[in-house]
Amino acid sequence: MSNWIDRGKKVLMNTYSRFPITLTEGSGVYAKDEHGTEYLDFLAGIAVNVLGHAHPAISKAVEVQVNKMLHCSNLYHIPQQTELAEKLIRNSSFDKAFFCNSGTEAIEAALKLARKWGGVNKDGAAKIVAMEHSFHGRTIGALSLTGQEKYQKAFKPLMPEVEFVPFNDIDALADAVDTATCAVILEPVQGEGGIFPARQKYLQEVRRLCDQSETLLLFDEVQCGLGRTSALFAHQYYGVEPDAVALAKGLGGGFPIGALLAKDRAAVFEPGDHASTFGGNPLASAAALAVLSELIDGQVVQHSLEVGAYLHEKLSILATQNPRISEIRGVNLMIGIQLDRDASPYVEKCHKAGLLVGKAGADVLRLVPPLIIEKKHVDTAIDILTEVLAE
Ligand SMILES: *Cc1c(COP(=O)(O)O)cnc(C)c1O
Repeated sequence: MSNWIDRGKKVLMNTYSRFPITLTEGSGVYAKDEHGTEYLDFLAGIAVNVLGHAHPAISKAVEVQVNKMLHCSNLYHIPQQTELAEKLIRNSSFDKAFFCNSGTEAIEAALKLARKWGGVNKDGAAKIVAMEHSFHGRTIGALSLTGQEKYQKAFKPLMPEVEFVPFNDIDALADAVDTATCAVILEPVQGEGGIFPARQKYLQEVRRLCDQSETLLLFDEVQCGLGRTSALFAHQYYGVEPDAVALAKGLGGGFPIGALLAKDRAAVFEPGDHASTFGGNPLASAAALAVLSELIDGQVVQHSLEVGAYLHEKLSILATQNPRISEIRGVNLMIGIQLDRDASPYVEKCHKAGLLVGKAGADVLRLVPPLIIEKKHVDTAIDILTEVLAE
């Protein structure tokens, strides 16, 4: 008997409250469970499967690399890693890349970079200013920057020298940033906290404040980067350049890889400062290269703008017709549907109707579909949401 649900409960640590669904394969924007039931996937493994499931470009790149070499360590030069860095840098305003395996590791790298930078360039400045309702990951460093008590409370004491301020409030930030501050960190579009986009003017003011106070500006684009906002990077959508950016989720299209990109002036690491055994290994880099080629050269990012506009148009109509929806927030294909009540029952109703969606915060439905969705998929999703939210 397969019976994955009961078997998993016996042997897996109790870290996830999983839905009673066992997904076993997928194709494009559809995922299939063990019984062959198909779901239209508007969660994409939490903003990871930017090219959907079983995309031939990723499959091919991974297959070719699997037969050459999986891993060799960063004691040697790795062509795929260098090519990946070149492609990221060519398509951004950054100068240097560091590769790791997840979002939280990209944040840890940013944190260490900021601490070293403050030590070298700002008289030992070590304080980091972060945002309320932020989410930066689960390791102690990243958790220390996560402005949500529910994630932090069981794990205190956390890292010192972190101050939280309200998001989108420049006065509060100006009060917090001082000579002891090495960096400000924020998500241009807050994800887990409930899908709250930054205001463009705010980000411009944050950039100015950081310039004036000689403070590093770090963006966490782990969720909102890689095409989700209709630009390759969220900061390109906003037209505001940070000194470094953390990436992960969509970067490998489902293959685990994270990255920290930084401007030369911020890239203060030297041999021995930081490392990752697996980081940017040949296989992960090959997968990410395939993803970037599709996003950029294959014009998937451009495509997502068109279909994103269509999705927003349909959602705003739905919002005017349904009193349960108090707001539609987000940028392009990173969307929060603010409900006037707990969103959990609606997530499950969507599942029963064949649509995978997520939650962000207690009362927000989260839509982060693959960037390859077509208008017909939007129509199907809207039909299901209309029906489910009318119940
Ligand atoms: C998911 C997420 C992280 C953590 O990524 P992991 O790969 O789960 O460690 C960090 N920051 C943001 C904004 C995220 O959405």
